[in-house]
Amino acid sequence: MWFRNHKYTGSKRNVMKQDNIAIIYDFDGTLTPKTMQEYTLLPRLGIKSKNFWADIVRETEKTGAETMMVYMRHLLDCATEKKLSISKSEFLKMSKDIEYYDGVTTWFNKINKYVDKKSNSKIKISHYIISAGHLEILEGISIKRHIKKIFASEYYYNKKDIAVFPKIVVTDTTKTQYLFRINKGKENLADSINEHMEEHKRPIPFDNMIYIGDGLTDVPSMALIKKEGGHSIAVYQNNKAQIKISENLLKANRVDFIAPANFSEKSKLYENMQYLLDYVIAKIKYRLKLQS
Ligand SMILES: [Mg+2]
Repeated sequence: MWFRNHKYTGSKRNVMKQDNIAIIYDFDGTLTPKTMQEYTLLPRLGIKSKNFWADIVRETEKTGAETMMVYMRHLLDCATEKKLSISKSEFLKMSKDIEYYDGVTTWFNKINKYVDKKSNSKIKISHYIISAGHLEILEGISIKRHIKKIFASEYYYNKKDIAVFPKIVVTDTTKTQYLFRINKGKENLADSINEHMEEHKRPIPFDNMIYIGDGLTDVPSMALIKKEGGHSIAVYQNNKAQIKISENLLKANRVDFIAPANFSEKSKLYENMQYLLDYVIAKIKYRLKLQS
């Protein structure tokens, strides 16, 4: 955590102005009730969602393979079987069918305005998505203009623009790599992130991060951010299983609070988020004051 590693002696230091807040969202189940595949690829390929996921889980358990790798291969196999090709443009078209939780589409502007007002335009805020799902679908979502950068799984395309092999696979543990990318300002995947960077030179300290997720696949990200002084939130759909998952995350101190996945103005999520933003803004103002 930034505070822990830096002492101020009153002298002016040549340090980076760490005046950016980042909100990082998981996608499936966090911003949308169903997985992105259920709105897009599964109906397009005529696949029954339940059997499809059951087959993947069965193979993963039997072979010890990485679930996302199995999933991406199964999808290509299904497409070949049905004599369909998955191209980038096809993916993009499908994203229009995605449905969001209440308030998601207006959330980003509301949050931006809130931070702007509370910080007298002195603190900036950026929104990121880190998803194990398809980058190709997320590139076409209606809320993309609000998102600074999307990190997600991606296919390699042959010369005919047909998906033939996984190129990037994002899993629950590799999600944390992207948190470090945001932290160090190395958002371009070609940039190496392994070189040491002093805490005060990192554009977005973990302290300034808020992670929103819905389940167990978010645990490594939530835990990392919390451990480094940042904040995590779990949102849930109103059913027993989802509520239980969130409650367990809260019990294990992996999140600051839990709330129904409702992003509208009158929701518990929005209310608590305002308090949390007040707190993060105060932390930033305090640090900037000590630097001045
Ligand atoms: Mg999720």
